[in-house]
Amino acid sequence: MSLIKEVLREHWGFESLRPTQAQVVEAALAGREALAVMPTGGGKSLCYQLPPLVEGSLTLVISPLIALMKDQVDGLRLNGVAAAALHSGISEEEQRRIEDQALAGELRLLYLSPERALTRAGLDLARQLPVKRLAIDEAHCISGWGHDFRPEYRRLRELRAALPEASTHAFTATATPQVREDILLQLGMQGAEQFIGVFDRPNLTYRTLPKDRPKDQAAELIGARPGEAAIVYCISRKDTEAMAEHLRDKGIDAQAYHAGLDAERRKQLSEAFAQERLDVVCATVAFGMGIDRPNVRLVLHESLPKSIEAFQQETGRAGRDGEPSDCVLLYRPSDAMNWRRMIQDGPDPQHNEVQLKKLDEMRRFAAGVVCRHSFLSRYFGQELEPGCGACDNCLEPKPIVDSSTKIVQKMLVTINDINRASPDFGFGARHIAMVLKGSQEAKVKQAGHSVLRGHGCLPNESVDQIGAWLEQLQDAGLIDDTGGKFPNLLVSEAGQELLRSREEFNLRRIPESKPGRTPLEERRKRRGAAAAADLAPEDQELFQRLRAKRLELAQAREVPAYVICIDATLKAMITSRPVSVAEFEMLPGMSRKKAEEFALEFADVLANS
Ligand code: ADP
Ligand code: ZN
Repeated sequence: MSLIKEVLREHWGFESLRPTQAQVVEAALAGREALAVMPTGGGKSLCYQLPPLVEGSLTLVISPLIALMKDQVDGLRLNGVAAAALHSGISEEEQRRIEDQALAGELRLLYLSPERALTRAGLDLARQLPVKRLAIDEAHCISGWGHDFRPEYRRLRELRAALPEASTHAFTATATPQVREDILLQLGMQGAEQFIGVFDRPNLTYRTLPKDRPKDQAAELIGARPGEAAIVYCISRKDTEAMAEHLRDKGIDAQAYHAGLDAERRKQLSEAFAQERLDVVCATVAFGMGIDRPNVRLVLHESLPKSIEAFQQETGRAGRDGEPSDCVLLYRPSDAMNWRRMIQDGPDPQHNEVQLKKLDEMRRFAAGVVCRHSFLSRYFGQELEPGCGACDNCLEPKPIVDSSTKIVQKMLVTINDINRASPDFGFGARHIAMVLKGSQEAKVKQAGHSVLRGHGCLPNESVDQIGAWLEQLQDAGLIDDTGGKFPNLLVSEAGQELLRSREEFNLRRIPESKPGRTPLEERRKRRGAAAAADLAPEDQELFQRLRAKRLELAQAREVPAYVICIDATLKAMITSRPVSVAEFEMLPGMSRKKAEEFALEFADVLANS
């Protein structure tokens, strides 16, 4: 067995590195500087935690949040790794002890907040230490283009300069090329290699439901998974409060989280959630970084996020442990209109335009009928075969509309007519839908569009439904938006060809009325491979008792439950029924030291089942 494998097995209980992890670790061991972009749950931390153990060297880790550092250090220590953190939350005595350990070469990983690292004392300490590598976690904080810009991160270049012998390795989950370039530029490491992980998260099932009674829909979805962790994202503080209250009324222990709460309360809530004392949080985007609980089973968007990046980040908090988890988006077109108005009121027109484009992609995702996994992957520049088996559009395709081909012909003819009648103006989906529906509103009349042959050819369809069809045509490349600031829909070459050939094209009907109950259990069954990871009903109770034991062990050590072990480890206990320490050590995610410390405790629960 290679040394890497040995270390991985002993300290993490994993059999092998994931493909991107392997590349990043290889580069690190060879001293090649690199930026690694891996989605949430991709396993970034292992990439910088493993090399110093393989070599017996020291890595400095820069991390933006004390809570994150603390959890990682606690976890590492439980895995038998010599790690420590220096930040404002520790005593002077403790600090001196850690510094002595580091100077004596006893530490493998030393975590520092950027503030701490960049003080005079911090830089002096760094210079004296035998630092082999500098790892920068959440590196997008360095970029003003990112979503979590931190001014202190800008100065990390100084730390790099203080460590001429060490190589630097930056990590982020933010995918945009602009942010990537900026990270490298700000750190002065333009030549560094870049490793881009796979962005698809196969264990997540994406689903969009027509938003109708959001609070009841949330209660239903959460009620269907008792005892499991869920995050409900809302737009406003007020919405989070109202949602949490409604859920509590329905007997679900839920709490609101937003930036308006005082720091102490926010800390309490984050800790309660991490430690599994609280399972349901209704939050604004403020609930984010530092939420490392790996067994979040549902991320529900009560309202449309304003970009795919935001959506990806927030849904990324589901199923970090790789177990099947759900991402549900409640969508109604007026939510997009509200965002649009808000963005248009922004002070910087250029910025507004970028934001509107992003919003438009998000809206297309929400309203679209194509595979959601492939849509997301493509957005991040990676191709994925459609047919994922884990999104609503693949599992339960929307019904095909009768006489689709004829309707498409009428729509395309009308778009041509509109553009011919008003060659100097551009028109968006809403206007075209109004014409097709037969609206007599002033804008339609004044443009002379109420006399077109296609005016009123779809009188019985709602404007939203027609808008959705226009989107489907756009997704298929039959119409293009050639507008800049204002939309301007035109029939594309492919669309003109379809008009001539009268080739068949299927439109799909978007459900508008009250959604049926989500057949979650049924869907779980249909999901095939992923469902195998789910427990048989008769094992549920034992699983809950193992979780309770884990919580007890965690509380005694003041660490989050997942630091003791992840859900997959508990599930493996149920299937393999280990008895001895050696058998416990074979479980996925169980290090040698943890097996020694916890085997008896868990064996007790298993024996009594
Ligand atoms: P990130 O920081 O990129 O969001 P984490 O480092 O928290 O990801 O890892 C996500 C999850 O994947 C954790 O539960 C971790 O234990 C698990 N994991 C990481 N690497 C491996 C691996 N090589 N094999 C199995 N599980 C892994
Ligand atoms: Zn799909």
